[in-house]
Amino acid sequence: MQADAPGALRPGGRLVVIGLGPGAADLTAPRAASALAACGDLFGYGPYLDRVPARPGQTRHVSDNRAELARARDALALAATGRAVALVSAGDAGVFAMASAVFEAVEAGPAAWRGLEIEVVPGISALLAAAARLGAPLGGDFCALSLSDNLKPWTVVASRLTAAAGAGFVLALYNPRSNARPWQLAAAFDLLRPILPASVPVVFATAISRAEERVEIATLASAGPERADMRTLVLIGTAATRQIARSGAPPWIYTPRRVAP
Ligand code: SAH
Repeated sequence: MQADAPGALRPGGRLVVIGLGPGAADLTAPRAASALAACGDLFGYGPYLDRVPARPGQTRHVSDNRAELARARDALALAATGRAVALVSAGDAGVFAMASAVFEAVEAGPAAWRGLEIEVVPGISALLAAAARLGAPLGGDFCALSLSDNLKPWTVVASRLTAAAGAGFVLALYNPRSNARPWQLAAAFDLLRPILPASVPVVFATAISRAEERVEIATLASAGPERADMRTLVLIGTAATRQIARSGAPPWIYTPRRVAP
């Protein structure tokens, strides 16, 4: 039998890129759960794969969090051999996650990969889960930024951050802080202090919907970076963002829909 040409597709192969949601099992979309059940091979970062219920006959391909492009290529290459492959991300797979890595790999990869069946199944991103926990802080215009400078220079992060804050967007900061990136969040607060009122709410929403969930509400004046880690989404309000005090519970935080002319 003749060997397949490099990158040739075997029939039946497909890749499903799946967002698992923020953590709680019942915040994973039913479509994501059924797609996972239908795949024979699962790729992902270990802690994310740990959230997927085990099924007999499935093979797990666990990889390091940083090896995203290699993981995307491995998943595509296996799908090209005729396997049904799932690649998982936390939250939504298209938000600072694996779906872009897959399409980067497809664009740069063997031409045959363009004929592969690829599906992206949406998930509840951290900013939606965190906002729902607080009330409605994203009720007006908002902007999501990743503070990680692994894939873009810090000068770009800084200019986008100040432009978005200056334009009145509520900010949702992904990847605010990790052991490898300890200084970026403090630098971001320093950039925002001349632009926003000192009283705007800064929310540290950590591990939302998981057992270790923690929500801390500060102001831009009092916010310190030590409240965040790699499981935290930082939400920063605008001058229009409101707080409604409650007895026995943290305040509701919301941004009104209407903006004065
Ligand atoms: N694709 C993911 C984001 C991946 S980037 C999504 O759509 O949510 C990783 C960052 O997401 C973390 O540093 C943190 O900022 C945020 N994050 C992911 N899950 C979270 C959760 N349960 N609670 C708070 N933030 C979370």
